[in-house]
Amino acid sequence: MHPVLADDLSRLPDLLQSARDFAAREVAALAERPVATAAPAPQRAPLPIAGAGGATALARFAERWAPGFSGSAGPRYLGFITGGATPASVAGDWLTSALDQNISGAGGSWAQELERETLGWLRELFGLSEAHSGAFVTGATVSNTVGLAVGREWLGERLGVDVSQDGTAALGPVDVLSGSPHSSITKAMSVLGIGRNRLRHVPLLPGNREAVDVSALERALAERHGRSAIVVANAGTVNTVDFDDLRAIAALKERYDFWLHVDAAFGGFAALSPAYASLVDGLDEADSVCVDLHKWLNVPYDAAVQFTRRRDLQIAAFHNASPYLGMPTGDPDFLHLTPENSRRLRALPAWFSLVAYGRTGHREIVERNVELARRLGRGIDALPGLRLMAPVRLNVVCFTLTGNPTAERVNALAQAVAESGETYVTPTVYGGVPGLRAAFSNWRTTDADTARVLDALAAASD
Ligand SMILES: *Cc1c(COP(=O)(O)O)cnc(C)c1O
Repeated sequence: MHPVLADDLSRLPDLLQSARDFAAREVAALAERPVATAAPAPQRAPLPIAGAGGATALARFAERWAPGFSGSAGPRYLGFITGGATPASVAGDWLTSALDQNISGAGGSWAQELERETLGWLRELFGLSEAHSGAFVTGATVSNTVGLAVGREWLGERLGVDVSQDGTAALGPVDVLSGSPHSSITKAMSVLGIGRNRLRHVPLLPGNREAVDVSALERALAERHGRSAIVVANAGTVNTVDFDDLRAIAALKERYDFWLHVDAAFGGFAALSPAYASLVDGLDEADSVCVDLHKWLNVPYDAAVQFTRRRDLQIAAFHNASPYLGMPTGDPDFLHLTPENSRRLRALPAWFSLVAYGRTGHREIVERNVELARRLGRGIDALPGLRLMAPVRLNVVCFTLTGNPTAERVNALAQAVAESGETYVTPTVYGGVPGLRAAFSNWRTTDADTARVLDALAAASD
């Protein structure tokens, strides 16, 4: 064994302790450190030839790189839909690395069964029935891709074509109908050989809404004269967190032939609160469902789940049969269900968080985040320099400058806010108008944080 490696082996507990001490200091400082960094990253160092050992690696990281990491795990980072990492989920994540299981299949370990237990809990959390089976993937983009891949396989079944064997071209043109899809849907269409241009935008409800007009969707389906399609319903849009009427869309399946995929990346968490659960009413009727976990479940990157009612078609698309891996039977190994073959135990951080905080603990995070978003919305509404672009429907505040909000002015505002170190929000365009989004999905965010965010926005827009 290389002597430095042998030395690290003999001191492994010390190395883990040092990393733990460092992490504890960083996380303790998270609420007060600048939320974003604008300083340039250090020059790249040459490839190390003689290894310096784990302790030195930690010291170099702490010195060269850690100071420029953002406070995205902290309470006032409101860009994208970010989420943080609950204490228990971090512990679970560390153990995922330390125990380094490969969840392509059982492989002489109980770990695959732990993933299945966790998937069962999540299915219940989101109100899905046992007709849905699931798997962990890296994020909502991959979850959407898997859902559309299963939908593509279903289209083949309708046409008597085996897409997995003969390719997407055997289907002819495939149409995907949606109101306000996330950009990852067109990315998935590109990857799957459907093509980004095959997205059919369905009109939205009038009155500042991002939800699809179900009667317009019905007309679009009727005009297809029986040609099957994929419909992507959106449960939580990123700008204004609007929800399609899932129940009404699912009801159309009685008359029209389509695969219903629901992108509930973060909106699925509405199911955790009796106050908001009606927003995802009908979710269980979907053929495939995407939910992100590194957003509102507050587990570390990267983790999402995908669910589907047609695991047989999922196996058709994703099976990885070989003499040493075997053909899928019964409860198939995960390598037959997901784009990945080797997989880390992404379920463990979620398992830890669910055991630690349960349904009620995670419900409290969702409800608190929504309350705080509404509070910030009321505060922004009262500022002379800013205005809301849409009502605060759930956990995102979409706002812009009063007067003429050009992209230049809005970007300058985003930059000034980031430079304050107090908070971080991301630019968007909503209804053709440049604006900003403040998204609440971190377990740590408090009233006091929200007041600081409002003060920072007031100062920067003054
Ligand atoms: C974030 C998000 C995605 C993409 O999620 P990743 O985890 O970044 O791949 C897809 N759809 C919606 C609605 C999202 O909010």
